[in-house]
Amino acid sequence: MSIGPIDFIDLKAQRRRIGQRMDDAILAAVHEGAYILGPQVKKLEAQLAEFAGIKHAIGCANGTDAILLALKALGIGAGDAVICPSFTFAATAEVVALAGATPIFVDVVEATYNIDPDKLPEALALAKSLGLKPRAVIPVDLFGQPAEYDRIEAFTKEHDLALIADSAQGFGALYHGRRAGSIGTFATASFFPAKPLGCYGDGGAVFTNDDRLADLVRSFQVHGKGSDKYDNIRIGVNSRLDTLQAAVLIEKLAVYPDEIEKRQVVAERYNRALANVAVVPHVPEGLVSIWAQYTIRVPAERRAKFIADMKAKGVPTAIYYPKPLHQQTAYKDYPIAGGTLPVSDRIAGEVVALPMHAYLDEATQDHIIAAARESLLGSSLAA
Ligand SMILES: *Cc1c(COP(=O)(O)O)cnc(C)c1O
Repeated sequence: MSIGPIDFIDLKAQRRRIGQRMDDAILAAVHEGAYILGPQVKKLEAQLAEFAGIKHAIGCANGTDAILLALKALGIGAGDAVICPSFTFAATAEVVALAGATPIFVDVVEATYNIDPDKLPEALALAKSLGLKPRAVIPVDLFGQPAEYDRIEAFTKEHDLALIADSAQGFGALYHGRRAGSIGTFATASFFPAKPLGCYGDGGAVFTNDDRLADLVRSFQVHGKGSDKYDNIRIGVNSRLDTLQAAVLIEKLAVYPDEIEKRQVVAERYNRALANVAVVPHVPEGLVSIWAQYTIRVPAERRAKFIADMKAKGVPTAIYYPKPLHQQTAYKDYPIAGGTLPVSDRIAGEVVALPMHAYLDEATQDHIIAAARESLLGSSLAA
């Protein structure tokens, strides 16, 4: 069987399945004309809350705003410290700084790429030594795999910190039976098109069980509204989920549980085929990743050649993330727990993500696997 061009994330394959339903839903919303906070937004929020297993789901403009809204609702700002990993997308720490607080960077666990709970006490002590008030920890469900929530929750409870789960990549993953999205003082999601549950533009959501915090998010996201948006009782932002995006997401959420299962099959095939040529992802017992990325690690000095070999075979790859945040120009002056983050620094040179989506067929995946094995075995023989 011949295979066509390979997409890193194939949204066209999903369209073949539910495209007609999405198009109908979009057109219906266009005709209804309630473009801002139309009935689709409320409906989606109820469905998201039910799916996650949490009381409040609040749509917003994107996954970055979702974290910002959580920080604002918690009153986190100048003089406060927020502990987060450095090996993540910039948004995680960006909003902390934007809120006026100080991100404290912590290393990750090599096997899972998620924040290292052993390093939290050091980060807390560092924050205090700098005269900052520690307020929250933001773990990230990197590549779709839940962070080590039992230990992180025990730590945040003990030290009276908020837990804001950045589930932009992990919304819907399972942590010992709990859905990412339902864990934490707040959890946040992104519906950016390339995320496992993506819309046709920007979108995001904030999740909480706390009625008071939910009300605060709903105020901050509409210009700090009081009784209505012309009654402004705090400084807020404009961050709502569009009706059209909600209409798309209602259709996508309907197939999402099935897509999560399909992603497991793809990930397991990769694992079996690549475990003896690269470091493949490790999912601890009791966790289900939603595989936002399928990331392997190859020796740093061979990565560029691996990517070139894959490209020559028509296989797209991506590097998430080439540079941890504490090495980025905008973030290099923020405090680092322990002074250095050796795991983050090293793995940033080794990680490479392969095409991953629910509709990756076996023939295409076999081609990707063969290309990867050939490159990695070839280079190890040459070494
Ligand atoms: C994508 C992402 C975000 C931000 O989501 P946007 O919708 O793009 O604003 C935040 N954190 C992580 C870890 C992400 O991957």
